Amino acid sequence: MIIDFHVHTAHYQSMTRSYLDLLRRQWGDRFDWMIQTYSSPEAFLGLMDEGGIDYAVILAELAPITTGISDNEYVAEFCSKSPRLIPFASINPYTISRPSEELERLVRDHGFRGLKLYPTYQHYYPGDAMIYPSYAKARELGIPVLLHIGSSVLAGSRLKYGDPIYLDDVAVDFPELILIQSHSGRPFWYDKAFALARIHENVYMEVAGLPPQRLLSYFPELERIAEKVIYGSDWPGVPTIKENIQTLKGLTMSEDSKRKILGANAARVLGIADR
Ligand SMILES: [Zn+2]
Repeated sequence: MIIDFHVHTAHYQSMTRSYLDLLRRQWGDRFDWMIQTYSSPEAFLGLMDEGGIDYAVILAELAPITTGISDNEYVAEFCSKSPRLIPFASINPYTISRPSEELERLVRDHGFRGLKLYPTYQHYYPGDAMIYPSYAKARELGIPVLLHIGSSVLAGSRLKYGDPIYLDDVAVDFPELILIQSHSGRPFWYDKAFALARIHENVYMEVAGLPPQRLLSYFPELERIAEKVIYGSDWPGVPTIKENIQTLKGLTMSEDSKRKILGANAARVLGIADR
């Protein structure tokens, strides 16, 4: 089973100039085609079929300063087209008065299966009191929390909030809550991200946006925590998901580790039966 744990929608209700420029640089003259084509869930499912992907986690994003807005309602609608599309909600504690109530509404009424937080884009430390009620609610609802942990090149990002060490308090205070470090501390905190995943039973690493061919040089002992590593592409930040997966499959690791990283760990975290 292959699960892509990190996919953005092609269409944002608003996109900042910085994010738009980044995607234009990456996609060149195929940019308009990409946005139009993959705003359709059917077309995106076709892309998943090409890559042999069974499920994809689709991320809402409320980050008006840095990337823009792909709102929860849009992502819920997108994912309603197929059970293979798994929606993760976005909460921005600066733009809503009662984040935990909002999270409960999104999970109970719209079927969201996880929460994505963007500390570097939304400007708070993962351990800040303002986001603690959302962790408590996620634990109560039994959903995992994926956090952007690492740097970003987008204008308005504040990198200090991406340091993995600030996730340590959360891991200690919510031992039953699954915390997944998206981007695994890229690029100056790989050691910390790895250490946190080793120390805390509830902390994982997710490798979206990292070139798969470099994974073992970033994490020479990756296989020691093969149970705690989750694949994600960061599409449309990468041009093809298929190649991304092929490269990962070609790494010098046991087949069992690859099976865990590419899907089995994600299936366990999402409560999907592995086949
Ligand atoms: Zn991303």
